[in-house]
Amino acid sequence: MPPTTTQTSVLERFLRYVQIDTTSDQDSDTVPSTAKQLVLLDLLVKELQALGLSDAERDAQGIVMATLPATSSKKDIPVIGWLAHVDTSPDMSGANVKPIVHKNYDGRDLVLPDEPSAVLSPREDADLAGKRGEDIVTASGTTLLGADDKSGVAVVMAAVEYLLQNPSIPHGRIRVAFTPDEEIGRGVRHFDVARFGAYCAYTLDGAALGTLEAETFSADAMTVTFQGRNTHPGFAHGTMVNAVKVAADFVNRLPKDSLSPETTQEREGFVHPNDMVSSVDRTSVRFIIRDFETAGLAVKEDFLRELARETVDEWPGSSVTFEVKESYRNMRDVLAKHPKVVDLAREAIRRTGLTLRETRIRGGTDGSILSEMGLPTPNIFTGQHRFHSRLEWISVQDMEKSVQVLAQLAQLWAEG
Ligand SMILES: [Zn+2]
Repeated sequence: MPPTTTQTSVLERFLRYVQIDTTSDQDSDTVPSTAKQLVLLDLLVKELQALGLSDAERDAQGIVMATLPATSSKKDIPVIGWLAHVDTSPDMSGANVKPIVHKNYDGRDLVLPDEPSAVLSPREDADLAGKRGEDIVTASGTTLLGADDKSGVAVVMAAVEYLLQNPSIPHGRIRVAFTPDEEIGRGVRHFDVARFGAYCAYTLDGAALGTLEAETFSADAMTVTFQGRNTHPGFAHGTMVNAVKVAADFVNRLPKDSLSPETTQEREGFVHPNDMVSSVDRTSVRFIIRDFETAGLAVKEDFLRELARETVDEWPGSSVTFEVKESYRNMRDVLAKHPKVVDLAREAIRRTGLTLRETRIRGGTDGSILSEMGLPTPNIFTGQHRFHSRLEWISVQDMEKSVQVLAQLAQLWAEG
């Protein structure tokens, strides 16, 4: 049954969702990683059903799916999907978020009341400087806001409601999904691509107005393990080989002016030691490996192997082993086989009257994993800024533009 109420604003939805604590937890083994994410996921099921999407449901892994029926009678319109993640980053508290709407922003510094040292200044933030006259939402200074990615959740919900209330807009069948645990890289590992049944999808999890992202890093995790020889330190003369020292020597040989997160930008990849598990007997150095070219990962991994072998050669009695695990792959390689997926997103952004900004993500998205799983999924802006921090902010008008982009996109797919 079509809804009879007036359109719920994207802002009203956003303010409701950010007040629900949905922080994910990388140290948890449960699925989803925190039970509190289910509170928002279950609320979304109720709201989707109230809008009339009667098949809305959440599965045991926390993934919500629902269907917006077609309004066009054309038979061959591909099914598209819209996705957003409900969790927020463990890097900053997401409990008791108190959103503040700064209406008709006049360009002044925004001092967040619960932490006076937290100041958003247009002098340091060019995007904020461009938002005079718009309505800016921030948190109150002690938490993140959660625009990453509750803005995406609000945009998808508002777009669904908009299309339901405007049935004269022709579109095909649209699948909607909300997922947990994106911030810890696991949310869509349990995503049933076949059950979702879409030709392609779009994550609503991008930053500045007009942004479209169809390229991410390719990523591996690598562990380099040094084996030493432990003895009682009082009787170690001539026999002990200390794996902690071998590993330290190896780390010290890493290039200091290249190949690291702190020395690379744009298209450059890196090798990044981010954890060590150490004992005299055995010490492991854990790396994340990143490159926009998947083939470039192996080059970087071979470089580390060579460096580690050179190191153990100078520590007689030590040895080294390697383990590489795939994390995710650059979605560009999958999207290149489905050019229409990105082309229509470009066109939808232009038709909304926006300047298209195509950027590469120096990281991964749920879409990198989904694209590899067979669901090509680029990323569209919602307007979120300074995410994972107490200075996170978003413009209400940017979110409204994102809703319009989705409505345009639905029509473009129906036009064929
Ligand atoms: Zn996000």
